[in-house]
Parts: sequence; C-alpha cells; structure tokens
Amino acid sequence: MSYRVTLIPGDGIGPEITEATRRVLEATGVAISWDVVHAGADVQEEFGTPLPEHVLQSIRKNRVALKGPVTTPVGSGFRSVNVAMRKALDLYVCLRPCKSYHGVPTPYKDVDIVIVRENTEDLYAGIEFEKGTPQAGELIKLLAKTHGVAVRADSGFSIKLISETGSRRIVHFAFSYARANKRKKVTAVHKANIMKFSDGLFLSVAREVAKEYPDIEFEDRIVDNMTMQLVKKPQQFDVIVAPNLYGDILSDLCAGLVGGLGLAPGANIGDKAALFEPTHGSAPKYKGLNKANPMAMMLSGVMMLRHIGEEDTADRLEKAIADVIAEGKNVTYDLKPEAERAQAMGTSEVADAVIEKLRERGS
Ligand code: NAD
Repeated sequence: MSYRVTLIPGDGIGPEITEATRRVLEATGVAISWDVVHAGADVQEEFGTPLPEHVLQSIRKNRVALKGPVTTPVGSGFRSVNVAMRKALDLYVCLRPCKSYHGVPTPYKDVDIVIVRENTEDLYAGIEFEKGTPQAGELIKLLAKTHGVAVRADSGFSIKLISETGSRRIVHFAFSYARANKRKKVTAVHKANIMKFSDGLFLSVAREVAKEYPDIEFEDRIVDNMTMQLVKKPQQFDVIVAPNLYGDILSDLCAGLVGGLGLAPGANIGDKAALFEPTHGSAPKYKGLNKANPMAMMLSGVMMLRHIGEEDTADRLEKAIADVIAEGKNVTYDLKPEAERAQAMGTSEVADAVIEKLRERGS
C-alpha cells in the first residue's frame, strides 16, 4: 500500500532535518509518495501570504502531513503560520510525548509523559486589541462599566478564550488516548483558582468527562505547582491535558527533562487531518550548518507511521533511533556530554546511522 503525504520542509534548520527524516522513513520500506509544498517567509513574496491556500488544500486532500519548523517574525508582520495552519484545519489536539531514551545525558530517568495540549483556543485564539486603537478604547470603557476597573489607557489586550466545547473534545481525546495506549492516569492542568470562568470551566468539564472513563485515574494540578512537581518527580505523571498556553510551556519543560528539544516530537490532530512536526522551532542560528538534531522530526515521523496504521514499522524505526542514541557515537552536539561535543556528528550523518541500524534490523 502506498501513502500520499504532504511534506512541508519549513525554514531555518527545517529543510535539513526534513531531508534526514524523509531518508529514514524511505529506508523503512514503507511506500510514501510525497506532495512537497512550501510555507513561511520564503514564499510570502511569490504567493502574497506565508500560508498559501494550495498548502492547506494538499493537507486536506492527503489528510496526513509532515512538517519542518517555520520561523515567525517577532512583533510585526504575519501571525504564526503554525497557529494559522492549526486553526484553518481545526487541528485541535497537540500531542507531545516526552520519553527517556537510554544514553541521553540528563539527570532524569524513566520519564514517559504524553502531553495533550488544546491547540485552538486560550491566549492563542488571536483575539487581540492593540494599544491606542479605538477598539482597545471601547474595551477599556466597557470594563469600567461592567467591572468598575480603571484599566490604563496605554494597555494592549490578548483575550483568553476557553469554551466548554473546546475543553470537552480535548479532555475526551486525552482519556481515549490514555485508554487506547494502556495509560493509567490523566492529569488536568489549570489555574482555576484565579481564572474562574476560563480555566475554571476547563477544570469542571475535565471533572465531568473523567467520570465517563472510570478505568483511568484522574487528578488535577494548578499549573505553578505542576511545574515544580514535574521538575521534582516527573515519573509520577502519565498523560497530561492542558489548555493551550500551559500545554505549550509544559511541553518544552518536559522536553528538557528527557534531553532537550532535539528529542521532542509532536502531532497536531483534528477530525479530518493530522500534521506531524517536532516541538522545536527553526533554530535559525544553526541553519545550513548540518548541526541540528533531526531526531525530534524523525520521532514525529514515527508518530505519523503509527497514525497511518504502520505500527510495526514505527516500532522498528523508533528502536533504530533509540539504538543510535544508546551507542552515543553518531549523535549531534546536544546529545553529547559537554567534554565530547567536539566529536558530535552532523544532521545527515545521524540519518546515515539510523538507516544503518534499520538495515541491521532487516529492512
Ligand atoms: P527553537 O526551538 O528554534 O530553538 C531554541 C534552541 O533550542 C535553539 O537555539 C537550539 O539551541 C535548540 N534547538 C532547537 N531545535 C534543535 C535541534 N533540532 N537540534 C539541536 N538543538 C535544537 O526556538 P526559538 O529560537 O524560540 O524559535 C525560532 C523560530 O522558530 C521562531 O520564529 C519561532 O516562532 C519558530 N517556532 C516554530 C515552531 C514550528 O514551526 N512549529 C515551533 C516553535 C518555534
């Protein structure tokens, strides 16, 4: 069987890690035909937008996409291509596993956490009012009337939006993921003690949904306490479900626990399409240097193989990557102990080493 998959190389280190990942996926023997399309600042001039419609069309048609990171200019210009893509395709789940691999230089062992982050709401909904605009002024007047608060005239606003519908579907996803993957516990993360009508709503929906899954343990944590507990004893957590912003921050924190962003894969999943990409960004300082670790994107490829039903191949590729990490020879700088950084391998050599392991495993 052949799969048609949309491939978006991205920018910065994106093209290098995408090429490395494409090579290892092809080496597994799975027949994938790639529909290569481009998004980001590099196509802005040609198409008048960093996210051309044909890119979205390709993902809608193929229903599966693999994507490298795309740079978002800070402060001005377009909003994030990544956020826009998730919204346009209603990819409401951001799934980010953080797992310890033997041989990674990190003080934490036996971490196996899956973060289920809501991907479309919260402070990322894109509802903002710029300082000094008539709309910001209207809002300031409204707040004076409804809440009796004197908001400073030079304030900007980003609205935190959490709906019952959005909360319900993400918490359901977390529990059904836990059940399907033989996980034992779901922890909901929030700040409901302060934000009663947004995080409070998320928490009350989570409690309600939890009752439908009596076979899975449920607990909740306030986000600040959660960060402390994750750093102290991450092994106590299993599946974590969180609104967008906390999920984003906790994903990077958990990536740090298992050895850094170079090992943190991710998936954005909706009812009609799924897009697989590493948690990390485009790391512009490493662009074109053959230095970045391609394993987060390779592991995103592993998630993609599982998603399309190629479980055995996914296991084989994950083991090949794990073998390369455990040997510690053919890994990039971020997986080398400080004293051995000079012997670090490049992005493409890591791909060669993973392909070699796949061959040894008989593919
Ligand atoms: P980043 O993840 O690109 O890099 C942070 C640091 O992590 C890097 O300087 C590097 O030291 C390390 N790092 C990241 N990926 C690595 C890899 N594969 N191998 C080795 N080291 C790696 O974060 P940033 O610098 O905050 O963001 C750069 C750009 O990427 C921004 O424009 C941001 O908006 C964008 N971004 C895109 C996505 C995406 O496309 N999904 C996600 C996050 C950030």
